[in-house]
Amino acid sequence: MSVSFSYDALPGRVVFGAGAARHALPDQMDRLGARNILLLATEHERPMVEELAAPLGERVAGFFTGVRPHVPVDVAAAAVAAAKDIRADCVLAIGGGSTTGTAKAIALDLPLPIVVVPTTYAGSEMTPVWGLTDGEKKTTGRNPAVLPRVVVYDPELTLSLPPSLTATSGVNALAHCVEALWFPHIGPIPRLTAEEGVLALGRALPAVVRDGADVAARSDALYGAHLAGMAFAATGSGLHHKICHVLGGAFDLPHAEVHTAVLPHVVAFNEPAAVEASARIAAALGARTAAEGIAGLIDRIGASTSLAALGMQAPEVEHAVDLLMAKRYDENPRAVDETALRLILDGAYHGRRPGQG
Ligand code: NAD
Repeated sequence: MSVSFSYDALPGRVVFGAGAARHALPDQMDRLGARNILLLATEHERPMVEELAAPLGERVAGFFTGVRPHVPVDVAAAAVAAAKDIRADCVLAIGGGSTTGTAKAIALDLPLPIVVVPTTYAGSEMTPVWGLTDGEKKTTGRNPAVLPRVVVYDPELTLSLPPSLTATSGVNALAHCVEALWFPHIGPIPRLTAEEGVLALGRALPAVVRDGADVAARSDALYGAHLAGMAFAATGSGLHHKICHVLGGAFDLPHAEVHTAVLPHVVAFNEPAAVEASARIAAALGARTAAEGIAGLIDRIGASTSLAALGMQAPEVEHAVDLLMAKRYDENPRAVDETALRLILDGAYHGRRPGQG
């Protein structure tokens, strides 16, 4: 067999295991020589984060809890100021993708190592992708400076995720794998990663939604999310992610829920033009087609949602189509035009199953 491929293998240390967040942080901070740590979290996660950071003692020099969804630019500026105030030499982010995103915003400005302890399945911790929102415009980019140096995965921290967020955040991870699989020139290693991610998420999500306290199933789901983040990092944002970023930024809609509403429609649209990728997704989910597999899994885990239910207004669909028409979709397996965007957004807005009128 003749083999030829290229991709960026990203540096970074990963520690994964139940209880890891309680035991591994002091040692990881020693390895980085961190003495002045800025801790990041949401107010909601504050009690858990204070407990996890307690073994770091006085090395935690500041605590920023102003994290907001989609990293508004004023929040990014306040986080940078907090890091400067304490002369931080490391940023420790404990939380979901919004908390990781705030750490990345600091690293865009200041040359600080980031340590992330993820508590959702967003996967941002494995990527060099940053995102900032200014008004209704969300801008994303890639920069190696924002890639976390250490990621500590602890499935015990995900036990508190309610079933709805467990399901939608899991679909966010699934979307990374799906979009990686149809990315042009995906090499064999990211393909293996993405396929194993679909397999793990397809297996684990029904189990964790059924019993959120099942640590083994939580571990499996977090493993899938880790793979999904890696696959996304090795490929990039395609049609699906571009739609979700525009919707999240312009209409302030929740990220994981938007992914859940949009994914079945993008998969149904792309499937005829992404035959090999779709066959792999279908096989990993034990379904006849990728679209059936994704829609079926979303139904099974009770994550079905519509953009209307998330608060989007009907006239905003046309505004979203306009915003999306300004983007390029060169890497999408199927040509994207205004009719296609309207079809996808209309289906997601009403929360229809793809193919249903
Ligand atoms: P989030 O971080 O906004 O968290 C959603 C909610 O869940 C918050 O209210 C939070 O307090 C709560 N929460 C977090 N962990 C919890 C836990 N263990 N138990 C109970 N509640 C918990 O949402 P998210 O979906 O994790 O992340 C979305 C953000 O991440 C978006 O801004 C998205 O663009 C970004 N993202 C970036 C990348 C990337 O590669 N750059 C990848 C994926 C997502």
